[in-house]
Amino acid sequence: MILQLLIPAGRFGRQIYNTVLISAGVFILFVCASFIMVNHAFEKSQSAAVRFDTLEGQLNLLHQSLVDQETGQRGYDLTGKELFLEPYESGTRLYMETAEKIRANPDLHERMRQAADLAIEKGLVWHDHYGSVQVVSKKRGATVTEVDLLDGKSSFDAFRFAVKDALRVLRLEKEESTRSLYYDVIQIFAVVSSIMLASIAAYVIYLSGNIRKVSSTMHSLSEAVQSYAEKKFDVPVPNHSNNDELRQLINGIDAMRMELNEKFIHIETMADTDGLTGIPNRRYLDEKLQQALAKAQEEGQQMAFILCDVDKFKMFNDTYGHLEGDRVLKHVARLLASHMGPVGLVARYGGEEFSVLLPSEGLQSAVQYAEHLKNALHHFPLPPYQVTMSFGVSEYRDGDTASSLIERADKAMYQAKSSGRDCVRTEE
Ligand code: GH3
Ligand code: MG
Ligand code: MG
Repeated sequence: MILQLLIPAGRFGRQIYNTVLISAGVFILFVCASFIMVNHAFEKSQSAAVRFDTLEGQLNLLHQSLVDQETGQRGYDLTGKELFLEPYESGTRLYMETAEKIRANPDLHERMRQAADLAIEKGLVWHDHYGSVQVVSKKRGATVTEVDLLDGKSSFDAFRFAVKDALRVLRLEKEESTRSLYYDVIQIFAVVSSIMLASIAAYVIYLSGNIRKVSSTMHSLSEAVQSYAEKKFDVPVPNHSNNDELRQLINGIDAMRMELNEKFIHIETMADTDGLTGIPNRRYLDEKLQQALAKAQEEGQQMAFILCDVDKFKMFNDTYGHLEGDRVLKHVARLLASHMGPVGLVARYGGEEFSVLLPSEGLQSAVQYAEHLKNALHHFPLPPYQVTMSFGVSEYRDGDTASSLIERADKAMYQAKSSGRDCVRTEE
């Protein structure tokens, strides 16, 4: 339930959620890895510290055991009492054991081994050449000379210095080990933080790339929708490669755009077309007439207008009924349009009146076209009916408006009516 609240809806939301989840996982992984590595480094350094402490103890023991030997030897030498031989001998044993342990230590570095070996050797030199020699001499009753004593002292001092030096080397190694732990930890942190930074950077690049892709698509989509609101349905929807809800939205909008475009074209056509006959209506004629007038004015080009009216149509309706009257109107419209072709624009002017706009023709030519149309009605009747029409023709004159041009054609058409109908008349 709580998880459902946390997971965002939609593929894109889930994508971001998964990315955050993976990054959190990677982060935890790195934290754990760095903890383990640091811990390992500390453990290593701790065991090194134990080794150092053991070695320090052994060196001190080595020193102490030689001091015991020397104390025993000197006491025996001074007093001749056997009891002094006990620390001498126990010191000798301890010295040998300790020297053995130090030599057997596999963890000593070369420098440390050399210093320790030197100390052991100096101690042995004292023991072999002075300590034991003087004890044996004493046992035999010989007297130790001052020269022997001085040589023994300097040999012992050499041992002490060697032990001191070994302890100094040990201290140095300890310091180096601490420093190396410090560098190890720094290195681990450097590696872990570089990997973390790299993954954060990769994550940010990935996320911002995704967001940029979505936001630029949204931007284009909003511009496209704005164009559709302005009836510009030819503006394409943006391309979005991801198969997510944005893609679905785009597909939906594109489907709507195509449907709207179809409906819009249909409505526009309907607005310009006469419902009964299917030819252009008065609204469309007015628009084209204005354009043709402007062109005639600008370019000084000739232009003509024909107005024609079905003769005695009221009587036809009264006789055969309105439905038959409609059939006649459709027939007339088809006939006029097919006989004019692209030269003139045939429109239903209103009721049983039709018009022909001839944007590039003069009066004479327009009269010929009107005669042609009048004859077409004779040649192509709608059996059993034979309908006729009266035609009035006007030509563009300077300063003409749509109404002045139509008015003159209308007058001419009424002249045709008064002249007995089924004929063509021109303006005066
Ligand atoms: P004229 O020869 O002088 O033009 O006589 P007319 O009877 O044709 O003229 P009038 O103006 O008296 O009548 C026109 C008739 O056209 C009246 C009307 O019922 C008919 N009409 C107009 N529009 C339509 C239509 O869409 N369908 C049908 N069936 N009749 C229509
Ligand atoms: Mg009429
Ligand atoms: Mg009429």
